[in-house]
Amino acid sequence: MRAALVIATLLSTSLLAQTPAQPDWAKVDEETLKHFLAIVKMDTTDPPGGEKPVVDYIKQILEAEGIAVQTFALEPHRPNLVARIKGSGKQRPLLLMGHSDTVNVDPKKWIHPPFGGVRDGGYIYGRGTVDDKDNVIANVMTMLMLKRTGVKLDRDVILLIEAGEEGTSRLGIQFMANQHFAEIDAEFCYAEGGGVTRQNGEAKYARVQTVEKIPRAITVTSKGVAGHGSVPLESNALAHLGEAVGAIAAWTPPMRINETTAAYFKRLATVSTPEEAARYRALLNPDPKISGPADAYLRKNEPSHWSMLRTSLSPTMITGGYRTNVIPSEGTANIDTRLAPDEDPAKFLELVKQVVNDPQVEVSYGARDTRPPTPTAKLDSEAFKAIESNITKHYKSITLPTMSTGATDMAFLRQKGMQCYGIGPALDIEDGPKGFGAHSDQERILESELYRFVRFTWDAVVDVARAK
Ligand SMILES: [Zn+2]
Repeated sequence: MRAALVIATLLSTSLLAQTPAQPDWAKVDEETLKHFLAIVKMDTTDPPGGEKPVVDYIKQILEAEGIAVQTFALEPHRPNLVARIKGSGKQRPLLLMGHSDTVNVDPKKWIHPPFGGVRDGGYIYGRGTVDDKDNVIANVMTMLMLKRTGVKLDRDVILLIEAGEEGTSRLGIQFMANQHFAEIDAEFCYAEGGGVTRQNGEAKYARVQTVEKIPRAITVTSKGVAGHGSVPLESNALAHLGEAVGAIAAWTPPMRINETTAAYFKRLATVSTPEEAARYRALLNPDPKISGPADAYLRKNEPSHWSMLRTSLSPTMITGGYRTNVIPSEGTANIDTRLAPDEDPAKFLELVKQVVNDPQVEVSYGARDTRPPTPTAKLDSEAFKAIESNITKHYKSITLPTMSTGATDMAFLRQKGMQCYGIGPALDIEDGPKGFGAHSDQERILESELYRFVRFTWDAVVDVARAK
């Protein structure tokens, strides 16, 4: 107890220093590698989910350095971990988030075993290396360094390692946000969902996720008269369904540009070829004669950018009929719908009905595990500025505020008013098509980029949290 007091006194003396003490980076790299490999080797695929080994491991590292850890679990083998480094309380906390589960693997397809943590040619291979054990370890290392250096803080820094991000968020972020929010409540949050894009080995731009689309499902149901297949009927439910699905897929929903996407295309233009730049700028022109051709080009050639401009609709499932000689009375289709953040869902559904324009076909929102509509994180906040200035410092690249077309756990926190920013390490743009990306059969990260991401995270945290 006395020893603890002496240490505490020594620490509080060092806290008075103006510039925060810098960690011993060579040692940090070594430790980063050790902890990263340890958790990559743990199979936490979801389903079935079993994040406890990762949580136990991190708990032991943090507690060994005197950082108190709490765990919260709806199911005992799927816990969430929370730890906190206290600040003066002058400002509200900063939350660091990473998920411990991963998607599944098909082990036969992996050249290096998915849970081998194999190092080869400067890379570390394994499921979770870029989704999301990279963010987990960068955050854990930051907590350790905050404790060791004793940087004086104006805000608490909270670590949340959440379970179940890959499809069972009721055990993870939803459980924490709904039942233990006081433990993670913060002004700002850093989580996965962004990252730096390298081309030819150079950082080209960094995406920081500030908002995401809202996932919904639209169900299209077509009803007609049942009959013998030998007698074609104009009311054939499947024929009407086919036309409805075709019309939905061919439709271009109205463009909706928000603060994030406007900044994204404007800034992207500054690091693009002249033709690309002209197109990205044209998109922002209110005259549809100018924006239209650029929009049409994206639809064909840059579908993820096209999706960022509007609510999107993708037919993903069609069911109907049970034998060749029976005209069925019903058929249904599921349309994966990603609403633009400012879309009015009811009005949008009316537009889809007009596109289908068939009294035999019903269009409605179906049930799915949805994420809530969320406000956009601010682009002029202290947290965004800290991220941007450290992207410049560590990657010498431009920052693009980004809207994800997919959904993340941040939605549940943004809904409660938290300003959340998605960040991530640098990945090669060439890696995706070669099959090395997140969720791929050869997920990998450059070891040097893991270390750079830890340095970046550290600076982006200290700049926001330290005493000013
Ligand atoms: Zn993830």
